[in-house]
Amino acid sequence: MATLIKKLTSYVKRRNFGKTTEPEPKTRVQRTKKPLFVIQEHHASHLHWDLRLEINGVLKSWAVPKGPSINPNEKRLAILTEDHPLEYAHFEGTIPEGLYGAGTVMVWDIGTYINEKTIPMDQCFDEGRIEITAKGKKLLGTFALIRLKSSGENWIFFKINDAFAHTGTPITKTHNKSALTGRTVVQIAQEVKKSHE
Ligand code: MN
Repeated sequence: MATLIKKLTSYVKRRNFGKTTEPEPKTRVQRTKKPLFVIQEHHASHLHWDLRLEINGVLKSWAVPKGPSINPNEKRLAILTEDHPLEYAHFEGTIPEGLYGAGTVMVWDIGTYINEKTIPMDQCFDEGRIEITAKGKKLLGTFALIRLKSSGENWIFFKINDAFAHTGTPITKTHNKSALTGRTVVQIAQEVKKSHE
C-alpha cells in the first residue's frame, strides 16, 4: 500500500481535495481482475483526451491532444502525465476554475483491456512498447502505445489495422457522449452550475 500511495504523490500534491471535485485516493483500492481502460474528454484550457490504463494498482495516464483515432494512419501524440488513482476512472464533472486541470471532464470511453504482449504490462511500460486490445464501449480492437525516445514523456498512440479500424469521420466526432452516463459535455457542465444555484 505504501508503494501505491508513493506512486500517487504527484497526483495528491497537485490537488486540494477540499476544493476539487476529483476523487481523493483511498487507502485501500479494490483490485480489478480485468485491468481498466478509460478515456476522459477533458475541456481544460486546451481540449484533450486523457488515456488511462490500469497497471499495478494505478491508472497510468497520457494526455492525447487530438484524441483517440481508429484510423491506423493517424498516429496521435500522447504525453505521459501523473499516475491517477483507480477511482478516477469513474470521475465525471467539472473541476472548479483556478484549480489544476480546471474544466469539465466526461468519461468518453470505459472498459477493460487485454495485454497483447507476452511480458507483463509494467515491463511493457518500462520498455516503452505497449500493445493492448481495448474492450471499451466505443473503442475495440488492438492499439499500440510507443514511447518516442528511450526516455521522456512523449509517446504515440495509434490503432493497429484490424476489423475495428475505420478511416471515416473521426470517432471523437461521431461518438461525443459520456460512455458512463450518456450525457454531453454541456449537460455535465450545466449540472454543476445548477447545483451551485
Ligand atoms: Mn486532463
